[in-house]
Amino acid sequence: MSFPKARVLTQPGEFAAVSSQSGAAYYDFLKRGCAMKKAIVFLAGDGIGPEVTRAAVTVLREAAHEFHHQFEFAEFPIGGAAIDAAGTPLPNATLDACRKADAVFLGAVGGPKWDSLPVGKRPESGLLALRQGLGLYVNVRPVKLLEPLRGISPLKADRLGDLDLEIVRELAGGMYFGERGNVVENGVERAFDTESYSTSEIERIATFAFARAESRSRRICSVDKANVLASSQLWRRTVTAMSAAYPGIRLEHMYVDNAAMQLTLRPSQFDVLLTTNMFGDILSDAAAALAGSIGVIPSASFGSSTPLFEPIHGSAPSLAGTDTANPIGSILSVTMMLRDAFGLSLEADWVEQSLLRVLSGGYRTPDLAEPGARTVTGSAFTEMLREEMQRTLEHAERYGWGV
Ligand code: NAD
Repeated sequence: MSFPKARVLTQPGEFAAVSSQSGAAYYDFLKRGCAMKKAIVFLAGDGIGPEVTRAAVTVLREAAHEFHHQFEFAEFPIGGAAIDAAGTPLPNATLDACRKADAVFLGAVGGPKWDSLPVGKRPESGLLALRQGLGLYVNVRPVKLLEPLRGISPLKADRLGDLDLEIVRELAGGMYFGERGNVVENGVERAFDTESYSTSEIERIATFAFARAESRSRRICSVDKANVLASSQLWRRTVTAMSAAYPGIRLEHMYVDNAAMQLTLRPSQFDVLLTTNMFGDILSDAAAALAGSIGVIPSASFGSSTPLFEPIHGSAPSLAGTDTANPIGSILSVTMMLRDAFGLSLEADWVEQSLLRVLSGGYRTPDLAEPGARTVTGSAFTEMLREEMQRTLEHAERYGWGV
């Protein structure tokens, strides 16, 4: 299987490098040269899921219109919304539609309304079943500083450095899918979850990480708990053995507790972080905080069927309906879809460059508000992005893809 190469966020000015050519003819050539037809399924889910999904739809609709692509959109229920509508967190019709699509976008699932349901019946189990049903075993989470947000990071500038890493999280195994249960022994209740990995599960996720590292800075840090866990010892042995086939890539190993500390001490030491399902889940929230907010981090999942794109945040129930959710994670998940699933790098660059311009103008959703920021609602932010995308295109039509 060939994996998408990493090329995630642009810095201001980088867009200019797309082409030094100018003029409407070149612009028109680019727009018409590779029109595509794609079927995209949206799973808005619960809480702020529908709000951030609307931002994703806006950006994709704009990209389709301006670049003459035919993106067919369909929406299906998942999570709590699906439990309410169909009695199950992943209806068969939802999974079938996702399997037939070219890409899936997911908002978020979960919320207090369904918290009392047993594990396996909750909204989150719909997401796990979707990942399983689509054979998704790779989850890549780029954590890159958007330069206008440097001041909002909880880390001092000298410690933050050039924050630009990717967490490659195993998505189909480990404790989230291992044997679990509750037993009562001598009147005492005990619950258990099992962490287990096979060599082949480790090899396929490590193959992705090595491929990704080859297109980045050629460094991998594999994170485990090999000083305590048998599954981690197999993980470390397997990744070490594989590294012989990648002599150009520098591999180091780190225990997860140290990795959590190093992320907050000197995150710029990391390039690709390869890790398990659970460790990746935890480390990516910690890393997200360094970029300013969990609301700005996107993700992409790959496997044997349709790829899935989703912001890494949850359904943030306390924000639902207030129009304060940050749509950036969702918007950047769309640029990952454009670039990694459809090969539409120019469109992705265009969206990201426009996003940086809106942020450079000082506009922020409340989670990113700093003194002097122009605080706007999530929907107003998306509309500003849409307008900025128009301005960027008009500029390109007249002068080429320069800034
Ligand atoms: P969460 O990510 O929803 O929220 C954590 C914190 O980040 C909260 O303070 C929230 O207000 C804030 N936040 C999250 N997204 C934001 C955004 N876009 N803009 C601004 N602030 C944002 O995590 P949680 O509180 O642990 O979980 C809430 C629910 O979401 C639970 O039911 C959980 O199971 C579910 N969840 C779902 C997913 C998913 O669908 N992929 C992932 C994680 C959690």
